Amino acid sequence: MASVVMDDALRDAYLEAMGIERWVCRDHASVTAVLPNAAAQAVTAATAAETATATASQDDTPVSALDWPELASRVAGCTRCALHETRTHTVFGTGNRTADWLIIGEAPGADEDRQGEPFVGRAGQLLTAMLQAIGYSREAVYITNILKCRPPGNRDPLPAEVACCHDYLERQIELIGPKLILAVGRVAAHNLLQTDIPIGRLRGRVHPYGKAGIPLVVTYHPAYLLRSPLEKRKSWEDLRLALQVYRGL
Ligand code: URA
Repeated sequence: MASVVMDDALRDAYLEAMGIERWVCRDHASVTAVLPNAAAQAVTAATAAETATATASQDDTPVSALDWPELASRVAGCTRCALHETRTHTVFGTGNRTADWLIIGEAPGADEDRQGEPFVGRAGQLLTAMLQAIGYSREAVYITNILKCRPPGNRDPLPAEVACCHDYLERQIELIGPKLILAVGRVAAHNLLQTDIPIGRLRGRVHPYGKAGIPLVVTYHPAYLLRSPLEKRKSWEDLRLALQVYRGL
């Protein structure tokens, strides 16, 4: 994916919108590869099977063999867990299906559930501004979530729900073949890295994701940044780290 070269004034405007002063180049971001997390899968297939409602699938093709339209339609009709009963729309993902950058959040909120698109509410607007600040439009990257349906009241996803959605995300990752993954927020980071290490300690380094060891960078969730604006500076550092990693690939 070609990086979009931004006009300085425009970038300054975005940074200002995010409450971040202009970036002055300092050579301080550390890129430390860590070993893949060996923590056992917190969520077992058995749990998923227990939770899943009897899936009346007319198509037995495994998710791992679906193409984009088939995958999107499988997700749209998903009844694997109880979240299908309360959702308005599934939220599959949006953007460039061959993007180098894959952004993974937690789960749809109320706005996303209503519109069927990830990160379109206030937090989404901040995420969009953050991406634009490093030169990427929403259309240039691919954006999705750990869960494709909204948990009622925006509660944390249950392990069994994550398990039900897991192969959808895995297939998206396989089809996209991203060069870099940005895990947005604690829930995304913990589920992708299979760890419960506090997000503050997962930031600032590069984690290899999956068998291919895709570089994964963790940053704070924009909803958290809206509540704690002083942390925006750290998120800006995370994005710079991601950019630095990507450019060095
Ligand atoms: N928060 C998320 O993690 N994802 C969304 O799509 C919206 C809000």
